[in-house]
This record gives sequence, C-alpha cells and structure tokens, in this order.
Amino acid sequence: MVSILSLPPELLSSVFSELPGVDLARIALVCQQFHAATKIESVWQRRCFEEYNFTSDQLKGWPEESYRTVYTKVLHPYGHILGTWQPQMGPYGGLVSIRVQDGMLVAIQYLPPVDPKVCLPLRSRQLFHIRINEDKQTIVECLKGPNGPHKLQVLPGNGDAESEDNFSVLCSKPDKHRLFESRQEELQNWIREEVGLEGHANLQHNFPNMHDHHIELLRIKYIILNQYDSSCLFKRLPTPVDNSDVPFKAGFFKGTYGGHGIEIVSVTYQDNKLLGTKITGDPNVPARQLSIEAHLDEPMILTKTQQETLGNIEGLQKDDVLVKDPKLLAHSQSFAVPYGVHDRGMGEVASQIGLQLDRCKRRYFATGLIAMHGFRNSSRTPCHLVVFSEDVFALLWLELHSISWFHRVTELL
Ligand SMILES: [Zn+2]
Repeated sequence: MVSILSLPPELLSSVFSELPGVDLARIALVCQQFHAATKIESVWQRRCFEEYNFTSDQLKGWPEESYRTVYTKVLHPYGHILGTWQPQMGPYGGLVSIRVQDGMLVAIQYLPPVDPKVCLPLRSRQLFHIRINEDKQTIVECLKGPNGPHKLQVLPGNGDAESEDNFSVLCSKPDKHRLFESRQEELQNWIREEVGLEGHANLQHNFPNMHDHHIELLRIKYIILNQYDSSCLFKRLPTPVDNSDVPFKAGFFKGTYGGHGIEIVSVTYQDNKLLGTKITGDPNVPARQLSIEAHLDEPMILTKTQQETLGNIEGLQKDDVLVKDPKLLAHSQSFAVPYGVHDRGMGEVASQIGLQLDRCKRRYFATGLIAMHGFRNSSRTPCHLVVFSEDVFALLWLELHSISWFHRVTELL
C-alpha cells in the first residue's frame, strides 16, 4: 500500500491546495513531509486567489514576496475586512475602502470634495494599514494625525467574531492624532479643510464669507466625529445593484446637499425604483436613510414653458406630463431650472463636465427625504429626478425650492 507520506511534496501540495488555509497550518505541524509540501507556493497562491481574489500583481511590493507569508500573516487573519465599509460615526457615516496596495492592506477613508465642487474627486486619507515587518511579524498601525504610525487593534464588531459584515478598530494612542496644543486651533484647522481654505495662515477673522449657522454645523460635526477618534465600528456596504433597462448604472454619487455640503449616496435599483441611500449624512437626514426614491415607471416630459416657474410645475396634472408608453420617450428633452429655485452646483457641473444642461435624457417623479435637526419630523417631499448622462443627475426639490446635483464617484473602491 502506498502511504500518503511517500507522495512527492509537489503531489501532496496539490492535494493540500484543495483544503482551506486554516487546515494547512495544522497540516504543516504533522510531519516533515507535510511541512515541506505546505511550503510550496502554488498551494498558497491558490488559497490567496480563491479566498481573497489576491492576484500575482498584488504580491508585488510585499517585503517578502511569498504567498504563504501573505496568506498566513495578513490575509487569513485580516482578509475578511477587505472591501467597502461605512464607519458608524453618528449621523455622519462615511466611506472607507480596504484593499491591497503597495505590499500591505490599507484602509482609505474617502471624503466628499469641498462644496460646491461636486465634480472633483473624493478627498482621501489613510486610516490604518496592516503590513509585515522584516521579522515576518504582522503590524497593524493607525495612521491618523501628524505624529506617525502607532498601534491599532482590529476587533470583531458587536462582539460577534464570525460576522463578515462588521468589525471595529481601537487605537492605542489617540493623543498622537493631535496636531495642535489647543483644541480651538485644531477645530479651526479642521474647518479650514472642510471649506477648502487650507494654507490660509491668518484666520483670526476666520471665515468672513460664511454664515454663523454653517460654522455651527461644522462645529457640531467636529465634536461628534471626535467621539469616534479612538474607536469606531465599521459596517460592510452592500454593492449597488443594477436592474435591466436603467437610466444609468448603479454606483456611488456625490451630491450637493446645501448647508450640509456635499454628501455621498449609493444609487441602487429595486423593482421599478431608483433608490438613493445616504452613505454620508448629516444631523437632519443621517447616513443610512433613503434620501431619494424615484419611480422609473413614471417618466415624464415637460416643455420649457412648463418648467419656467415652480408654480407652473405644481399646477401640472400628473396625466398631462406622464409618459405611459416608454417608446415615446425621445433621446432628449428640454430642461430648465425654474425661476427662483436655489441651484446648488449646476455651474460646477456644466464647467467641469462640459455638459449642455439645457437638455436632459430622462425625468421621473420622485420623493426626497427631509427632516428637522436630529431627524425629527421626517417626511418624503415631492421631487423630480432628472438624468443628464451616465454620470450626472439632479434632484429638484419642489417644496424646498432647490436643486441638488449628483456626480458619479469614479474612484476604485
Ligand atoms: Zn491612532
């Protein structure tokens, strides 16, 4: 009888490559032959790819370009946090991508561009990384603040070790996040970044063009975000889902939300509806709420005259403008911002994208979610969703007399 021990390591390794990596580690302890077989890279290469989609390109840049080391030291213990996540920071939420980059696992937080430049890329900052040092030890480091990397723990979220859908982080040295001695200075600096005035040295009379209300909103945001400075729970974000025959592909979009600045929404499709869920939020309408709901089975066409004023639009009977037969929808139709509507970024979109915004592709009946501070008295208010291209749409808030502009997030998440 042929013993399994008499098989050459290459053959053993191909048997082993069928096994999940957790068992490989134990097998290696059984005997020398097994140990030798589990050292064969192809075994680990296959595990890396099948379990974490880790490719040969991604092996470049690791201190020791070994699938076995990467698998056992980083992917097996931490690979479950790869993907797109929402930090649970009160009403503000957020967008974090964790991926393999430059020979390590990196967590990158994406922030909306400064209002109203909705077509600019997202701002990004590294939150933490997981790497292997020269002694083949796994190092998990927080990258917040100007004082260099320091120790961080990645823990199961909600105390549920098995959950693939959440985790939390705990920084051991949050005082290293501090840039300034005084909190006041820190706050000023943070506000500068949020409103795009970095590098302006003399800010004693700080923000002359901003309303007190706006400053107050930023101050509240700063205080609340600080509560999540040393520890934070992350929840996995579902991938936006496409349907057949949609006006544009599902995905993440940046949108102008007035006093709260630019926020990020996830656009997905369900049945006959387009759903825009907040990825980042604000104290009025928090993250995770359904900001936009458009009825794709209710497309309409409005003439230029019908769009001249909000009064005209409100006076319309649904049946006058509803297109019952989708075949009657032309390639484009006229679009105009009604008189007196507060336009939040049309000029930005027009100049950055070079789109002619006097024509749109589609227009649908929709609702948008509004609420008082603290998400009190929330209600859905009538809106029109207007589609301009694969990457640009707008939401006309009829009762708010304003229009929000949305531009697709193109960063690889
Ligand atoms: Zn830290």
